[in-house]
Amino acid sequence: MSTQDFSSLNLPQAAIDNLNSLGYKAMTAIQEQSIPLAFKGHDLIAKAKTGSGKTAAFSLPILNKLNIRFFGVQALILCPTRELSAQVAKEIRRLARYQQNIKVVTLCGGQPIGPQIGSLEHGAHIVVGTPGRIKDHLRKGTLVLEGVSTVVLDEADRMLDMGFYDDIETIIQQTPSKRQTLLFSATYPEKIQQLSSDFQSNPVEITVESVH
Ligand code: ADP
Ligand code: MG
Repeated sequence: MSTQDFSSLNLPQAAIDNLNSLGYKAMTAIQEQSIPLAFKGHDLIAKAKTGSGKTAAFSLPILNKLNIRFFGVQALILCPTRELSAQVAKEIRRLARYQQNIKVVTLCGGQPIGPQIGSLEHGAHIVVGTPGRIKDHLRKGTLVLEGVSTVVLDEADRMLDMGFYDDIETIIQQTPSKRQTLLFSATYPEKIQQLSSDFQSNPVEITVESVH
């Protein structure tokens, strides 16, 4: 059971007010355990069930270190499906509502690539998407990841089940080695360990059994 409210984090008052207006009063257990560590710059392996509030657990740390004046991709969030990518992008936009001009671009397959290229040309701070389409953009040179300081692997277990390991590897290799890598998963199969040892440095493991 979590009782910590968001004001225990070192967030601007406008961010706290926005969270409260979204109905976020107390942190969920995974948020309480992961956000302070993520703020300190640690890599994390966070295991928690669906519905436990993982999106805000990685999005608040991303928003907290974003440089809005730099119109380059600073955070990359990989998700297994188009639907999950859309949900994550929507949640980030809600969490970022107190700040002006944060650009979140969603890059997923099954959608025309032209408008995605157009959005990227206008500048994006945060990219959310599926590994296949993100790899396509890297191949075309329409997405550049050299300014990325945070990579999130959301629903990492599902991405591995879907055979995305090699794509994830190709993508992460194009990000700076000095980055923060946050891995979120509902389960913890052996392949997750492999993913972590390949792409994280000294990750802190967090496991939350219940949802709240
Ligand atoms: P997960 O990714 O772990 O499945 P989500 O990030 O999608 O979970 O969050 C599940 C739901 O809980 C969403 O509707 C989200 O808006 C809500 N939520 C997240 N954190 C909080 C919080 N601290 N207080 C209230 N609601 C929250
Ligand atoms: Mg989620």
